[in-house]
Amino acid sequence: MKKVNVKTDQEIDVIDITSDVQKEVDKQNVDSGAAVIFVPGSTASITTIEYEEGAIKDLKRAISEIVPKDREYEHNNKWHDGNGHSHIRAALMGPSITVPIEDGKLQVGTWQQIVLVDFDNKERQRDVLIKIIS
Ligand code: ZN
Repeated sequence: MKKVNVKTDQEIDVIDITSDVQKEVDKQNVDSGAAVIFVPGSTASITTIEYEEGAIKDLKRAISEIVPKDREYEHNNKWHDGNGHSHIRAALMGPSITVPIEDGKLQVGTWQQIVLVDFDNKERQRDVLIKIIS
């Protein structure tokens, strides 16, 4: 299993990690299999998107509308860490995806990138786990 350390910014940072995952596929010389990409932690997610400025802005707006920051969260009342919204956003998007590998290549679409999304209310150092199964 490979651990990739990624520095993230606060409040919805979207980072393209596709090349990190493909690098690991290349290194392990896998022809056919799957890549499991997982982020440990309850305020970050892994998903895919077309990694371009417009789509990233639209995603950030949509998340902020679905789970607003400025409402009451029981988590904040209890723990006073102010990231109740971050936990809910991460839970809805999920911590992991699996991508098939064929002919040594991740089978993502041309305009589909694998992204780490950090929802926390402070900067973080994230470990993304990449497990190649063949
Ligand atoms: Zn918390």
